[in-house]
Amino acid sequence: MKKPALHWQILIGMLLGLLFGLVMLWVSGGKMFIQNWINPFGIIFINLLKLIAIPLILASIIKGISDLKDIAKFKSIGLRSITLFILTTIIAIVIGLVLVNIFSPGKGISPETIARITNDYAAGQGVQAKIAEASLQKDSGPLQFLVDMVPDNAFSAMSDNRLMLQVIFFSIFLGVSMLLIGEAQAKPLKAFFDSLNDAVLKMVDLIMMTAPLAVFALLANVVVSSGDPDLLLALLKYAGVVLLGLFLMILFYCVVLLVVAGKNPIWFLKAISPAQLLGFSTSSSAATLPVTMDRVENHLGVDKEVSSFVLPVGATINMDGTSLYQGVAAVFISQTLGHHLEITDQLIIVLTALLASIGSAAVPGAGMVMLVIVLESIGFPSDKLAVGLALIFAVDRPLDMARTVVNVTGDAMVAMVVAKSVGKLHDMPK
Ligand code: ASP
Repeated sequence: MKKPALHWQILIGMLLGLLFGLVMLWVSGGKMFIQNWINPFGIIFINLLKLIAIPLILASIIKGISDLKDIAKFKSIGLRSITLFILTTIIAIVIGLVLVNIFSPGKGISPETIARITNDYAAGQGVQAKIAEASLQKDSGPLQFLVDMVPDNAFSAMSDNRLMLQVIFFSIFLGVSMLLIGEAQAKPLKAFFDSLNDAVLKMVDLIMMTAPLAVFALLANVVVSSGDPDLLLALLKYAGVVLLGLFLMILFYCVVLLVVAGKNPIWFLKAISPAQLLGFSTSSSAATLPVTMDRVENHLGVDKEVSSFVLPVGATINMDGTSLYQGVAAVFISQTLGHHLEITDQLIIVLTALLASIGSAAVPGAGMVMLVIVLESIGFPSDKLAVGLALIFAVDRPLDMARTVVNVTGDAMVAMVVAKSVGKLHDMPK
């Protein structure tokens, strides 16, 4: 019998994980069982994906750039990608703001619910950790993000997954220099990185063989670790607005691809779905990157010259889902706690959510850290910050899963549009 396609296998794994988690919620000791005996397999899977992220970025960017043959091409790909990253992020924030203003999800929450959420979560470790992390980010000057991008030691940058932008910087620098010294001189280095690239891609294939089982473990754990069902219900309207916005973004990508690249949206969604499902299960665009690269190159037909730059950079700085969520959450929290927002405040949200999503790490929950900075930019009182974050904390994990899907899909869309515009989008067998 033929094995079902990968996206079906992953989807089945997710559904079974979900069901298993629900059943185990009713069994005494079920939660412990999942945390002790099932969840470790999910963690191992995420570790494996993270393990290959740095070698993959290094090999793929260096190979991609040194294959270009001329520097002007690199400039044009770079410029187009950055422009599209910024444009799509602004569109995402505007969609979020329009929806949250239309539906006003913060207006219907009762004072009792607010009091309960505050009691349950505001002083909790989760919320306080986000605020502490945000204050670390904010204590630096306005150009700190540029300083942070340039490593002072290539090897220490490579030893820390959080320093992905530094690794990208080093890889681009080395790739461009290889172009400049000419083909003959660069040949041995190029051969090394080409071969490293192939080997790492094989590692992706091998890891993906375990994906259906791993997502089973991840989803089962999400179910048993998720918070209070009553609170989820109270926050349903807010979550609904975020989800509607995210859905509209996916629709927007499909329309762009249809119009600009003439690609069938169903075909696109089917081809990218394994990356989307992994984004959903892991809540991390960085962990999903190896799979996104594989799908975009081998199933969507984007030439490596384009994808090798666009995807790693996109995974770290282009987060449409995160920025949309930050816009909605900032207004929702303000509505609920009675912080009046002028139209200028909403414009400030567009700007800060753009910067905040660039600054958010591609890991679970990072969007909420940067939300603190968005809230502060609109003059949200700092003594109410913890209550504000507490309000959305209970539903943050499922929304994080959903926004990561959009982050990953947005990167794939930009890669396709850029590839199309420079004549590097190949036809794939249907
Ligand atoms: N988890 C998201 C990502 O990795 C970031 C966030 O919104 O928290 O893309």
